[in-house]
Amino acid sequence: MYQSFGNDDMDDIISTTQTVNYDSKMHAAVDSQISGSFSILIRQVERCFVRINSIRCENLMSQKTLPSSAAIVFEIPPCFLLAGEEICRDYMCNALSKTIIDSWIQVLILPKICKEAIELGKTSHGFLVEAQVEAVKETYINDVVDFNDYDSEGQRIPTKPDCPICLLEFGQSTSTIITKLRCCDHCYHGDCILTWLRRNHSCPICRDDIHNPRPNKFIPKV
Ligand SMILES: [Zn+2]
Ligand SMILES: [Zn+2]
Repeated sequence: MYQSFGNDDMDDIISTTQTVNYDSKMHAAVDSQISGSFSILIRQVERCFVRINSIRCENLMSQKTLPSSAAIVFEIPPCFLLAGEEICRDYMCNALSKTIIDSWIQVLILPKICKEAIELGKTSHGFLVEAQVEAVKETYINDVVDFNDYDSEGQRIPTKPDCPICLLEFGQSTSTIITKLRCCDHCYHGDCILTWLRRNHSCPICRDDIHNPRPNKFIPKV
């Protein structure tokens, strides 16, 4: 069983899609108690895309896999398992909220594990579900930046040696992708400008409005 489901959060500049791929295996429990246990292993992946809407194009800018934690185990006592959908759901919601699982992942996996628990609770006397969850967060920067501009020798040449946001030299940071704002051609690390654009719709250096750049602007030589 492999299922995907998710949430969307749309903004004009930064949009985010959160999805969860859920895969599980059921084992009959060793003891004869009518209780259910879940062992959940979560792998988190973050991807960032630069999107050009006019030509319906999306380019992967960066991808990282977060270190996965140990499997998270919790048990549903028989009284909750057999008490009906609503009570079982409340119990599991509460149990999940006490784990270190990110809340958006909890929201997405809760209906899935509830359904599984209730169905298994009806037919089997004790079970252990081993679930593997791949939680994917995809962020899109829409129509405002370019990245991967190379010169004739295949070298990327930013206008300044370092990123104006984090002040680290381009190439000497864990974020190696360099992006250029289209409104003014100022360059930043991909991760740095992404964080900035979540809160501001302007260029950090020249304050040009991302959507309405000044037509005859003076861009200081750098
Ligand atoms: Zn930076
Ligand atoms: Zn600028």
